[in-house]
Amino acid sequence: MEGKPVLTQLSPYKQGKQTKEIQEEYGLDHIVKLASNENPYGYSEKVRQNLIDGLPEFNIYPDGYTGKLRESLSLRLNFNQNQFIFGSGTEEIIQMLCRSFLVAGSNVIMAAPTFPQYKHYALIEGAAVKEIPTNKHGYHDLERMLAAIDEKTKIVWLCSPNNPTGTVISDKDFESFMNKCPKHVVVAFDEAYYEFMDREADVNALSYINRFHNLIVMRTFSKAYGLAGLRIGYGIANEQIVTTLDKVRGPFNTTSIAQFAAVAALEDQSFIEHTYDKNKKVKAAFETFLDTIGWEYYDSETNFLLVHTPVSGMEMYQYLVENGFIIRPGELLGIPGTIRVSIGTEQEMEELQRLLLQFYQDRMKVL
Ligand SMILES: *Cc1c(COP(=O)(O)O)cnc(C)c1O
Repeated sequence: MEGKPVLTQLSPYKQGKQTKEIQEEYGLDHIVKLASNENPYGYSEKVRQNLIDGLPEFNIYPDGYTGKLRESLSLRLNFNQNQFIFGSGTEEIIQMLCRSFLVAGSNVIMAAPTFPQYKHYALIEGAAVKEIPTNKHGYHDLERMLAAIDEKTKIVWLCSPNNPTGTVISDKDFESFMNKCPKHVVVAFDEAYYEFMDREADVNALSYINRFHNLIVMRTFSKAYGLAGLRIGYGIANEQIVTTLDKVRGPFNTTSIAQFAAVAALEDQSFIEHTYDKNKKVKAAFETFLDTIGWEYYDSETNFLLVHTPVSGMEMYQYLVENGFIIRPGELLGIPGTIRVSIGTEQEMEELQRLLLQFYQDRMKVL
């Protein structure tokens, strides 16, 4: 028995070690996970209350149309109901885009480093992947991405804010990109960290959807909304893209409970405001700390920071994990010599800073 030939080059997603495993391995009683950009404040109390007051029925299939959530988003964001597509996380929307647009011989264009799943699903469909390095500050090089487009290009992935660098594409650059991008190319704009973007910033990808019919904007309930475990995300595009994606979508691809929780989560925007304010404040304090020890980091409008480290990211990972903190070493994200740290609570970050300071001082003695 053999899978498709391309699968010999791919490996299953390797998740970080589970908290419990690490606790046992290093004999720690407390672990702080700052590795997956989850919301350290949990999720909205309103979601919890609605789940207590009345769970959806589990013996019947979910609403495959995701009607209530569709209606709520349509009113909130001012798009027609038929402009939405839902997935088991944004992850599944990415997969659906690849399934419906890519064939062997076609290609996609993405930044490097960026979210690795764009590449993974493209390869499964037999497409080629053109990876265009970000500039040295971690920003998408849109000119080079445009230049890489040919007649076989089907999708350009733009991730803003970008994971793992945290940088955003400015409104001006995006508009110019859309104007120059050929219409046969789908532009997939991933805004998984949209809610963390600076409120003052002027980027508004949604305002381009009705102008550019080759654009899809993707968002998720996994990050700021704190519902990663329920798996639900969505895409907004013109009806033609949505109809195409709908053909490859599984009929019941999001669960009743995820739909139910997402509707409640949208109703509590104060939770998002709270998360945004806290994240902004704690991230600024972490940046100030990094400035004092002279470690550089990338501009970030997200709930994580990509930090240059004086030793390899793997070495930093090892030191931190032994002390109860899990972060992502840059070696696993395609950007060696860095670590990606999700912004935790104030207390968690103070403890992390204490550990980093200790590391810094110990090293200074050695040098
Ligand atoms: C976390 C993340 C996603 C995936 O989110 P899900 O909705 O949980 O599948 C998509 N894109 C980026 C850039 C992410 O960081």
